[in-house]
Amino acid sequence: MLKKSILILAASCMMYSCATKTDNNPFLSEFQTPNGVPPFDKIKLEHYEPAFQKGMEEQNTNIQAIIDNTETPSFENVIAALDNSSPTLDRVGGVFHNLTEAETTDELTALSIKLAPVLAEHEDNISLNQELFKKIDAVYRQKESLGLTREQERLLEKTYKGFVRSGANLPADKQNRLREINKQLSTLGITFSNNILNENNDFKLFVDKKEDLAGLPEWFCQSAAEEAKAAGQEGKWLFTLHNASRLPFLQYAANRPLREKIYKAYINRGNNNDKNDNKKIISEIISLRLEKAQLLGFDCYSNFVLENKMAKNATTVMDFLNNLWGYALPKAKAEASELQNLMDKEGKGEKLEAWDWWYYTEKLRKEKYNLEESEIKPYFKLENVRDGAFYVANKLYGITLTKLDNVPVYHPDVEVFEVKAQDGSQLGIFYVDYFPRSGKRGGAWMNNYREQQGSVRPLICNVCSFTKPVGDTPSLLTIDEVETLFHEFGHALHGLLTQCQYKGTSGTNVVRDFVELPSQINEHWATEPEVLKIYAKHYQTGEVIPDTLIGKILNQQTFNQGFMTTELLAAAILDMNLHNLKNTEGIDVAAYEKEAMEQLGLIPQIAPRYRTTYFNHIIGGYAAGYYSYLWANVLDNDAFEAFKEHGIFDKQTAALFRQNVLEKGDSEDPMVLYKNFRGAEPQLDPMLKNRGMK
Ligand SMILES: [Zn+2]
Repeated sequence: MLKKSILILAASCMMYSCATKTDNNPFLSEFQTPNGVPPFDKIKLEHYEPAFQKGMEEQNTNIQAIIDNTETPSFENVIAALDNSSPTLDRVGGVFHNLTEAETTDELTALSIKLAPVLAEHEDNISLNQELFKKIDAVYRQKESLGLTREQERLLEKTYKGFVRSGANLPADKQNRLREINKQLSTLGITFSNNILNENNDFKLFVDKKEDLAGLPEWFCQSAAEEAKAAGQEGKWLFTLHNASRLPFLQYAANRPLREKIYKAYINRGNNNDKNDNKKIISEIISLRLEKAQLLGFDCYSNFVLENKMAKNATTVMDFLNNLWGYALPKAKAEASELQNLMDKEGKGEKLEAWDWWYYTEKLRKEKYNLEESEIKPYFKLENVRDGAFYVANKLYGITLTKLDNVPVYHPDVEVFEVKAQDGSQLGIFYVDYFPRSGKRGGAWMNNYREQQGSVRPLICNVCSFTKPVGDTPSLLTIDEVETLFHEFGHALHGLLTQCQYKGTSGTNVVRDFVELPSQINEHWATEPEVLKIYAKHYQTGEVIPDTLIGKILNQQTFNQGFMTTELLAAAILDMNLHNLKNTEGIDVAAYEKEAMEQLGLIPQIAPRYRTTYFNHIIGGYAAGYYSYLWANVLDNDAFEAFKEHGIFDKQTAALFRQNVLEKGDSEDPMVLYKNFRGAEPQLDPMLKNRGMK
């Protein structure tokens, strides 16, 4: 998954006292470090607020200069100037928005809640600035005669439409209401996410009887014992809702009531009628979004969001999802009955429930493919997998990654690499932060500290929550985690290889339903036999993964895909349903979700991958956008076919992908980029086949 923090451009100066000394605030000038990396060792909590304030003032000054410029409005003096109007905000926002996700503290969270409405207001001050919009409009109206490059045309179009979509054409009273809505949404969104973080951290399942560990692998028990010790309960075992704890527990724990307990705690996050409850918050968000869409002339929020995406409108997305549903649900139902058969054989007379799914799937995997996750994990030491991802990038694109020491980091777990092109020129700096912590949001994402622009190279990071090393045992990844590492590194490549002239078009600043193509295609290499033989080496013996194990891994690739596709689709449809609403009055989100899932015919053993009260994606920029993963899955499967046709390391295919996708950012329409690479529009079939649905 990608969480691309959208740096909120922006500034109101009223709420600050200017007492803080700014002399040694590292954000107020270019970072004085090699490669211009953030000086984490010098950044202190008290630096952020004054830097945001100065940054907003600076941007206001720069925008006033654009307005006051007496020359004829041109691409350079309006559009490019606006693209470059916020150097200080870019610096401080880059660090701040990364740390509030990856290494937050109570103080940082409090500050982000305080700043959110201020930054939202600053953004509105820009996008609703009539004089600025007049300048942009003047450039836009003469766009045909300006002799612009394709990238300049795109940035102009994007800027102009961005202003219109932010309400620049609305009368003053509607603009004022829009400001009010944006401010409320910014605060509600942060509260929603924090409630989920609290729910994740609050739940602690301590086990004190050894018999309750039945079925759990040794490595997992060790890790749980260390967690318990760290939590001050030595001698017990601690399990939590984080993926690296919850999922193995559901997969292996023979104790059914405990599985039920952890499962229910997970799917009821934000839905416990307590201080972390998100029902009211999400209803308010949905209602405010609808009102915003209607102010801007749309019938529902999803049509507003989709207007500038590849999919264009809600009907296209719903048709796409419903079509897939017709393939996925029958496969999931068939999987459910296979699991039930397995349970029947045990003769306990139990009926398959949602908290049994992972456990019996693991058993069935063993029975059908003679494969156990614990058998393959020793071959997936984190460092080996990471080097495997680097190896693939080297074979495809000629790039090299070299570890840099002595680069300031915000946590000892973070490692830094210099990325170079084949000719030795620097492509960027790459940070990895792979282990879960209480201050880190769950999941995995890529982000940047600095955008690429012309000769300024980007600073990119991957943040994940993988299985931690325990005692002498290094971090050993599950297949899922292996694919996640390749996935996030795929986003990183999109960020690192970009060759654009403007921040607004560079790197991953592409539309949501295109942004997962570079990440998801990169997952395909992770399990190619040729690649596995390079990186999958036993962490103790160094033995290369045997062919028999590779065969088993490949054999089960479509295994459980009915479930995986169905839970993803259910969440995507739920997201669309919530944002397709044309009336949200008195909505009860819990009842609405239940009804929507019943209408779909979702079986009770499967919940949507994210339920309404903890659907962080639809807060963090994927509203009416969760379908993007499946949409891009069509693209990535079809695109990987090109590699399969010519060889997975075929230089020419790699060059085509690099030149038409990875380097291009948003400098061209995504379907044009895709066709330039593939020579045709994407086909659905490769995806259906790879998911075992055709
Ligand atoms: Zn992603």
